[in-house]
Amino acid sequence: MASYPHQLSGGMLQRVLIAMVFGLNPRLVIADEPTTNLDNLVERQILELIRSQQRQHDTGVLFVTHDLTVARHLCDRVAVMYSGRIVEIGPTERILERPAHPYTAGLLATARSLEKRDATLYEIKGEPGATSWAKRCAFSARCPQVTDRCTAMEPTEHMVEAGHSVRCFNHAA
Ligand code: SF4
Repeated sequence: MASYPHQLSGGMLQRVLIAMVFGLNPRLVIADEPTTNLDNLVERQILELIRSQQRQHDTGVLFVTHDLTVARHLCDRVAVMYSGRIVEIGPTERILERPAHPYTAGLLATARSLEKRDATLYEIKGEPGATSWAKRCAFSARCPQVTDRCTAMEPTEHMVEAGHSVRCFNHAA
């Protein structure tokens, strides 16, 4: 209690923060990249701590991450965002095993390529954020499945199955 923040390690600071947050018994916690700059072991401990506190307090946790492995281990549902919009949302297992949006599929292919330590890493071509959503799909300049319709109008949300939806013309009725 008498320590200053600069006297604590990154992992200790996160533990203090988690104690302060869950001590308030919140209904929802927004955790934005809470394990950035932590080593793998401490990261796993912090994620386990958040998970156990979430169960103990029956709290909703909105977890913001770039790490799909973290999402797989921690989240019941995943929302994938591209250029400021949710492009796919659904149960974690379904999205990670059977992605419906080409961007999600590209992210997973990149993660697999990293895991396998491929000599040439898979990459999603093009620049992120180079195209807006104005009367088109913002992912159209990078999408391997782009058609004329994708550059003529903005895709709306379509159901893939119960609880799983995607913003892509591939799944339009
Ligand atoms: S709407 Fe078209 S460009 Fe956008 S993700 Fe789907 S197929 Fe690709």
